[in-house]
Amino acid sequence: MIKKLAVIGVGLIGGSLALALKKAGSVGQVSGYSRNELTRQEAKDLGIIDIAADSIQQAVTGADMIFVAVPMGAMQQVLTEIVHYASTDAIITDGGSAKMEVVKAAEQGLGDSISRFVAGHPIAGTERSGPSAAFAELYQQHRVVLTPTSKTDSSALEKVREMWLNTGAEVFDMDVEHHDTVLAATSHIPHVLAFNLVGMLSGRDDCDEVLRYAAGGFRDFSRIASSDPVMWRDICLTNKHAVLNLLKQYQQDLAKIETAIENQDGDYLIDVFSRAKQARDTRFNDPSLIDNSEV
Ligand code: NAP
Repeated sequence: MIKKLAVIGVGLIGGSLALALKKAGSVGQVSGYSRNELTRQEAKDLGIIDIAADSIQQAVTGADMIFVAVPMGAMQQVLTEIVHYASTDAIITDGGSAKMEVVKAAEQGLGDSISRFVAGHPIAGTERSGPSAAFAELYQQHRVVLTPTSKTDSSALEKVREMWLNTGAEVFDMDVEHHDTVLAATSHIPHVLAFNLVGMLSGRDDCDEVLRYAAGGFRDFSRIASSDPVMWRDICLTNKHAVLNLLKQYQQDLAKIETAIENQDGDYLIDVFSRAKQARDTRFNDPSLIDNSEV
């Protein structure tokens, strides 16, 4: 049972954690802080938080669990501030989408308190953001990855694991670097491709006409292009190496497809498309895998 949970960044991810723990009866009180007063007030009005704190200091004072769910670009500054006001036994965790940069930021920002920091990433989300997007069921039957390091205290890790289990999530531990490579492939690259395709089409003079003929496949693929640009900018920049490695590989493979089309090489296309179809129909056909997409 968490006595007081402090949520820094009461949007989709932070707000949904607060609502899920409240629903499960596993938190006493929730205080929340976001930069804008209107966001904090909205979170309070929606029953996500009990206390709309005016500062990080007010939010974390007396909290036994602190959850940081701000955009990746704000992590370091927030973690550095938290450490000044958090109780010496408070556990600090986060929900950021790329873990290497958060772990580095925590090591720099938290100093000796690093053992009480447990990096985490709920593989759940929607393309919506802010407190009004939050809902208690977001994490149910979704995966949460924790990326402890050799410096992580085992009892802090177990408390964070228990917190997520109480939301209905399945919790897995993963090496930090491996997490960033896996998530670049399954989440970060698909977002880059969707943003780029929708951005490219929207720049055409005949865009309105093109979109009028959009089929279901385009709608499915383009949905994630309505995700928050700031959040995805930060994810790309903070998971730079894994994203660039995969983009390079993608561009090389795309160039081969381009050459095959130019050369009327249908066999090559059949080979690539068939392998993809077979993988999608068999290896990706486990609903628990597909439903765990980040958005
Ligand atoms: P969100 O709905 O936009 O919520 C983020 C909140 O952080 C906003 O309420 C914002 O408040 C606040 N904030 C921004 N900068 C801040 C700062 N410097 N100090 C305090 N509060 C600040 O975003 P989200 O989707 O919950 O994402 C939060 C984190 O979860 C990100 O690190 C993201 O990578 C990660 N994540 C997202 C998803 C997803 O699908 N959305 C999934 C897994 C993990 P104001 O409105 O007042 O600025």
